Amino acid sequence: MPEPFALSDVTIVAGDPAGTVLPGRTVVVGANGKILQVGPSADTVAPVGCKILDSTGRFVVPGLINAHAHLFSNGLPLPKILLKESTAGIVAKLGRGPLGRRLFKKRTKANVLTQLHSGVTTIRSVGDVAYEVVEVADEIERGEYLGPRVLGSGPLLAITGGHGAPQIALTSDSPWEARRNARTHVQRGVKAIKISATAGVTDARAIGYAGRPEMTEEEMSGICEEAHNAGIRVAAHAQSTAGIRAALRAGADTIEHGAAMDPEVIDLFLDNPRSLSGSSALIPTILVCLPLLKFDQSITGASDVVRANAAMILEEMVRGIEDARRHGIAVGMGTDSALTYVTHYDAWREMDLLVRYGGFTPAQALNAATRTNARILGLDDITGSIETGKDADMVVLDANPIDGFRALTNPRMVIARGHIIDEPSVTRYAELDERLDSI
Ligand SMILES: [Zn+2]
Repeated sequence: MPEPFALSDVTIVAGDPAGTVLPGRTVVVGANGKILQVGPSADTVAPVGCKILDSTGRFVVPGLINAHAHLFSNGLPLPKILLKESTAGIVAKLGRGPLGRRLFKKRTKANVLTQLHSGVTTIRSVGDVAYEVVEVADEIERGEYLGPRVLGSGPLLAITGGHGAPQIALTSDSPWEARRNARTHVQRGVKAIKISATAGVTDARAIGYAGRPEMTEEEMSGICEEAHNAGIRVAAHAQSTAGIRAALRAGADTIEHGAAMDPEVIDLFLDNPRSLSGSSALIPTILVCLPLLKFDQSITGASDVVRANAAMILEEMVRGIEDARRHGIAVGMGTDSALTYVTHYDAWREMDLLVRYGGFTPAQALNAATRTNARILGLDDITGSIETGKDADMVVLDANPIDGFRALTNPRMVIARGHIIDEPSVTRYAELDERLDSI
């Protein structure tokens, strides 16, 4: 159980779209890990026995939520053997064998802790090798060690030869097989389900391939129904208008990456009776595209085809974000961590890119990563903001991140459900950071 404490005289950065800043506040956290009181320091009296942490001059923001994470790798360029079609089958088999299971679980544990130490207190995985993320999430929930809140997806669900298959996907080729895979996932305890509605960049076989529709609406409908019956939201990888349309019609709760929208797609996002909450949201992932475009192919290992697809997908994604912004569609934040050049410690970069490429204000980008993501994932009763009754998920900083997201690179403290990590630190990759800084 966490020790009760109060952050006194701290400046709260609320995480709302207006960028509200509340100086001189005290936040009281109880032994249940929840926020007991928040208010002006003069009116907020911490209970007897509560440790007082003088936070004068410091800023506190809600714990970040990463709505699109993979955890199987650390963000350094992925080895070719993992991506090549000729070796994919062996990689998938070994990855799910006893040695692979141990290896990926160990990596998952290290990577979720890196995210936590960089301020991410909630992670949704969207495509794992097997059930290693679900197992790590369970261990954290049982209190075996301190970690973030993790919604594990298991492997993504795809068609034969589809995006992510077979390395990080279970395949099916009929609506009932698709349902069976979804039922298996539910039985194994997933808290999220991810489907490949279209092809992707990393496994593109030709220029223009990445947005090609893969799973049919009927197949996706079966999965969505099974997931929703279990109260689980469905994330759909979709990189074309046609793919998004089919996924939304089937009831997908979030569209990952995204593309330009037409009026029907916009209406479906805003009013989607087949989704779990009645509307669907967009989770763009800008950072993952940029290294493929900006860095030499000898560095990224990207083929001409992959590079051309990345260019196409980035353009589509930016148009999708613009359409979402104009029409009031909820936009969240996800990093696509574990893919080449996306580490587990740089969620701030994606927020920064939402501003530079997506036309967000910094306050709106922080809002996407906190309150909006909480709502999108159905967690807004428990996290996403610093309010009485919510879990104490917070990040204490030396500066207001709205004035520059780099403030998030060195948190003074990360608080996860009331547990304090003092002076958190992560292992960084200097060369990779330097290259990303040049973008
Ligand atoms: Zn992804």
